[in-house]
Amino acid sequence: MKTYNSISLFERAQQSIPGGVNSPVRAFKSVGGTPLFIKRAKGAYLYDADDNQYIDYIASWGPMILGHAYEPVVKAIQEKAEGSTSFGAPTELEIEMAELIKSMTKNVDLIRMVSSGTEACMSALRLARGYTGRNKFIKFEGCYHGHADAFLVKAGSGLATFNIQTVPGITAGVSNDTLTCAYNNIEAVKDLVQQHKGEIAAIIIEPVAGNMGCILPQKGFVENLREICTQEGIVFIFDEVMTGFRLSAGGAQETLGVDADLVCYGKVIGAGMPVGAFGGKKAIMSHIAPLGSVYQAGTLSGNPLAMIAGYTLLQELNNNPNHYTELAAKTEYLHRGLETVLAASGKPYVINRLGSMISVHFSEKPVVDFASAAAADNAFFNQFFHAMLRRGIYLPPSAFESWFLNNALSYQDLDKTIAAVQESLQALLA
Ligand SMILES: *Cc1c(COP(=O)(O)O)cnc(C)c1O
Repeated sequence: MKTYNSISLFERAQQSIPGGVNSPVRAFKSVGGTPLFIKRAKGAYLYDADDNQYIDYIASWGPMILGHAYEPVVKAIQEKAEGSTSFGAPTELEIEMAELIKSMTKNVDLIRMVSSGTEACMSALRLARGYTGRNKFIKFEGCYHGHADAFLVKAGSGLATFNIQTVPGITAGVSNDTLTCAYNNIEAVKDLVQQHKGEIAAIIIEPVAGNMGCILPQKGFVENLREICTQEGIVFIFDEVMTGFRLSAGGAQETLGVDADLVCYGKVIGAGMPVGAFGGKKAIMSHIAPLGSVYQAGTLSGNPLAMIAGYTLLQELNNNPNHYTELAAKTEYLHRGLETVLAASGKPYVINRLGSMISVHFSEKPVVDFASAAAADNAFFNQFFHAMLRRGIYLPPSAFESWFLNNALSYQDLDKTIAAVQESLQALLA
């Protein structure tokens, strides 16, 4: 496989873009080698600057749930663009988008659109603080909630990939209000809540974690958090930037059957356009400006192109729940195929999966939190990543990322992937 054009583009990019990329994980630093520059994509396939084709398991980190360049979305964007790309004034489409999201999800009485998952989480935390009059909050080690200052403490994938422990530029004053516990450790949460009684504004969680590989909440964990929040007057925030509209039309709230007070969306909600949203119960959301005094704003929030893209995709997902059945069946098929070839290879492994999120950890022990994800043979994962890439399979370039399936993948693509895993393992373990 020749990648001359990507190599020369990467050299050129580094002259004018920090590290040659606009988001760190794209630089392939942890797995090594040169990142591929992508020219276009269609369905389940990516094409790089040298016209190599890859089966895509990133799906733009989630949004391409029905495949790339999904025609109804592309058409809708093209048509909308004719009527101007932004107004800075309200539109009927924003109401339709809000109504659609409300009809698909639980506990969302009011919803505010923003332009990224980072903005959604940052704003939800500010709102929880404004609403409760408390400063501290709890997050879980290895969970990523965007790059706002308060969240960049033990923040999973991107930082874990680069082994960044503390982030220069974030003041102690800010990070002192961020309390962290291990994922799936309810006793640690109870201890923190006791130690800081009456001081905790929010508990924020990825209800199924996707930023340390895919990690599932153990039975009762999220339910227990819900109970603690209710008892202590703590706002329970579900960061559904990954899980929203992916695990099911109603997201993790529906899949896990647990209610959140505030929910953050991103990724799928924008169909690949820059969109995020946060919403929740009226009693809390009505503290947001202009209803209340918790300020939050955005010049491009509710942008017409972003809204029509997201609306078109969400409507399709809402009208055809068989997309989720098909995605889950394909992911299970992949899971079984991976089991077979991994078991035969003799290399210890753990596969975590829920719906269309899945990850492989080269670990002997169950992977249930950040520490167990970090203890896996991630150096081997990095070699595995390149072996797969050489065989035309584009996995996330870090052991700390979930793989995302899209419904344009065919069973033939999955068989090719499983065969590539078998060949890669044979080549690496020979
Ligand atoms: C991607 C992600 C974010 C941040 O979203 P951006 O759009 O990249 O700012 C927040 N939370 C979770 C769970 C994510 O996966």
